[in-house]
Amino acid sequence: MIEKQPSCADENETGLLPVATAVARVRELITPIAESHTVGIREALNRVLASDVISPIDVPGYRNSAMDGYAIYSDDIPDQGESELRVIGTAWAGRPSDADPQRGECVRIMTGAMMPQGCDTVVIQEHVRVEDSSIAIDDQVEVGRNVREAGEDMQAGETVLVKGTRVRPAQLGLLASLGIAKVEVKRKPVVAFFTTGDELRSLDEHAGEPLGAGELFDSNRYTLFGMLSRLGVDIIDLGVVPDDSERTRSAFLEATQHADLVITSGGVSAGAADFVTQTLHEIGDVSFWKLAMRPGRPLACGRVGDALFFGLPGNPVAVMVTFYEFVKPAIAQLMGCVDLDSPTVRVPCISHLKKSRGRVEYQRGIYTCVDGEMQVITTGKQGAGRLSSMSAANCMIVLPAEVDTIEPGTLVDVQLFEGLV
Ligand code: AMP
Ligand code: MG
Repeated sequence: MIEKQPSCADENETGLLPVATAVARVRELITPIAESHTVGIREALNRVLASDVISPIDVPGYRNSAMDGYAIYSDDIPDQGESELRVIGTAWAGRPSDADPQRGECVRIMTGAMMPQGCDTVVIQEHVRVEDSSIAIDDQVEVGRNVREAGEDMQAGETVLVKGTRVRPAQLGLLASLGIAKVEVKRKPVVAFFTTGDELRSLDEHAGEPLGAGELFDSNRYTLFGMLSRLGVDIIDLGVVPDDSERTRSAFLEATQHADLVITSGGVSAGAADFVTQTLHEIGDVSFWKLAMRPGRPLACGRVGDALFFGLPGNPVAVMVTFYEFVKPAIAQLMGCVDLDSPTVRVPCISHLKKSRGRVEYQRGIYTCVDGEMQVITTGKQGAGRLSSMSAANCMIVLPAEVDTIEPGTLVDVQLFEGLV
């Protein structure tokens, strides 16, 4: 009988590195980029702030009305019954009224218009009775209602955004509301990548050509391009590198000349053609991990030259899963981001799922709302090479190492692919 070696097909393989330990080790390897520069507000989108933003002004800048109605003195609200107030002017948004109301008087006011001096309450127009040049209000009017105070959103001198915040649409709007046209952001990380494998044909060079025997289209080049583009880094795409030690070595040397981070796919398992592993033993300081996860068991991580390095597995789904779990937070950390976590929710899984014990599984799922309740179902057959499962999914169902069956209705952790933009 043949004495079997440990392999990634083993159900209960021992000595696998837990995902959380690997994530912690990656974190220790990274020094955030120190360089920063000043960019115009639009260019700041998706970038990471290199310094705190202090508000130069109060927002709102003046006390104003939150509704269309009448600005009054709250002392004029009757204890019971009604009281009558004379309308002595109109305040529009951007056009303050020059009327100077006294007790017993009021000013018609629009949403956003500056409150006249002395008035502290707005009665909405639906709650008054208009009579010629006066209005009647009743005892139901609440003191101080419908007024937005100066500085109630942000105050001059207040830290409104902290260093390490990623600038999203809300932050762009916030900066604009403060009159800030330029901000200091971190330099973008430069990420070089190449795919490896003699069997690969990339569309960039071979579009329209039929595949030869044993060949396949390189998909990792495009999923990596897609994921990196959405993270807002500068990309150097070095294409496909064949399984050849000289070509692999020169690709690494080229990649490390300009990049903060180098990513490869394929060639990090123990196969005879795995030249990435061999080359890295010579020119890098890299650890080769067998992770307690599926898909994505083999992963290489370390430094090559001055660059951080990730050697991802070759299988298309494994590439995406390991990218999301390791590379995405690593890039966020390189960028100096304070928030490295991906959004996770816990919902019932409606499908019956099976897995092997001893590894965390990232199964592809569809997160939906049924009768007002959020739930997740599987996309069906899971396999590290089935990119169709990834394409059908809108989330990953993260199943812990210690379980082997998930009965319908069990609460599971779900990592969402998309949030609001
Ligand atoms: P490897 O890790 O190089 O042994 O590759 C594992 C599996 O992933 C093999 O079936 C490869 O053909 C496949 N693979 C590797 N790289 C790619 C790629 N860039 N695009 C699609 N499949 C790939
Ligand atoms: Mg290969």
